[in-house]
Amino acid sequence: MITKTFTALVAAVLFAASGVNAQTASVIIRASSALDGRGRSVPDAAVVVQGGKIVSVESGRAGAATYDLRGLTLLPGLIDTHVHIDTHFGKDGRATSQGETPQQSMLYSVENAWVTLMAGFTTVQSIGSPSDVDLRAAIARGVVPGPRLLTSIRPVNENTGTPDAIRAFVRKVKADGADLIKLFASKSSREGGAQTMTDEQIQAGCGEAKAVGLRSWVHAHSPSSIRAATLAGCTSVTHGSQATGAELALMQQHGTFFEPNIGLVSQNYLENKPRYLGIGNFNEEGFAFTEKGIPMKREMFTRALTVSGLKLIMGTDAGAGAHGRNAEEIIYRVQVAGQPARDAIVDATSHNAMSLGLAERIGALAPGLDADLIAVDGNPLEDITALRRVVFVMRGGTVYKNIARGR
Ligand SMILES: [Zn+2]
Repeated sequence: MITKTFTALVAAVLFAASGVNAQTASVIIRASSALDGRGRSVPDAAVVVQGGKIVSVESGRAGAATYDLRGLTLLPGLIDTHVHIDTHFGKDGRATSQGETPQQSMLYSVENAWVTLMAGFTTVQSIGSPSDVDLRAAIARGVVPGPRLLTSIRPVNENTGTPDAIRAFVRKVKADGADLIKLFASKSSREGGAQTMTDEQIQAGCGEAKAVGLRSWVHAHSPSSIRAATLAGCTSVTHGSQATGAELALMQQHGTFFEPNIGLVSQNYLENKPRYLGIGNFNEEGFAFTEKGIPMKREMFTRALTVSGLKLIMGTDAGAGAHGRNAEEIIYRVQVAGQPARDAIVDATSHNAMSLGLAERIGALAPGLDADLIAVDGNPLEDITALRRVVFVMRGGTVYKNIARGR
């Protein structure tokens, strides 16, 4: 009996040991340079990965590499703090899921997750849809390839009810597994963007989110809605298209993360106008607002760049037609709006990780962080469009894409 138990124990230990060995074998990725996501460049870079984590980031390391990506640039996996991962063009090519089975809709979400990961985005925040919960679980199980997914599931708006009703709603969404709370504090930009929730409703939503340990993301276009969200202590203002110098300064003073969306969402609606026209507020008047809004948002963003200490982050608001093109927001910031490339990359990596409360896990090439890293063909500091040429994607130590040219 003792012998049998002993044998079983030895076998178990041996099995465990071999499992550990397989998991902890070092993987070395070498590239011509690396951008660490915190503003530092590492020439002749080698990143050592073990057990899904980054062990070291070195320059000029001798010896062989598991993945020799010389000629390419390594970056931390990119992060998008604002996508709508379930949105898609359906069977008739229109931006609606009407007439689909839930299974068909879910498969479109799976496709969106795939193209987003292949575009170098290893974490996205979907804000948000109930179907995100099952997609998040499937990706986390490691069976569906996609970015790490965070979701707000269902939003709070002016019709959610009294401040007490809003607090109860927030607790329910938290119990349903939400990673954050989304609030609609203003109308859509296609309807002028005026404040919709009262200041008390916004305070209830963001206050209760904080009390239950969740972050709050507030859709706000008009100055008054931005001010209300900022003063209520909400985590982040998204859109902010009508922010003036006063609102930008207020967000800076309160440490509010600011997520403008200037380079992809409006452009995508206009490019795909026939697929959107006639759905909800996508009417001719709405499209006129969208068109007028593009230069206005660019100017607002350029002003935001001058507010030192403002916590700028990078989210696209990607909907149908924009998934997998998330990097266009970064490219637009640099090429059109004049943000230095290094800053734009820091926003899309370590600053974004901070805004998600995940700075200890993702957003940089640094020892101890998850091995989320990508390689692009070119140097994005010299040519930001290199972000369109993602040839290598690793998330959590697993390689999902490797189409680097033979060297
Ligand atoms: Zn959105």
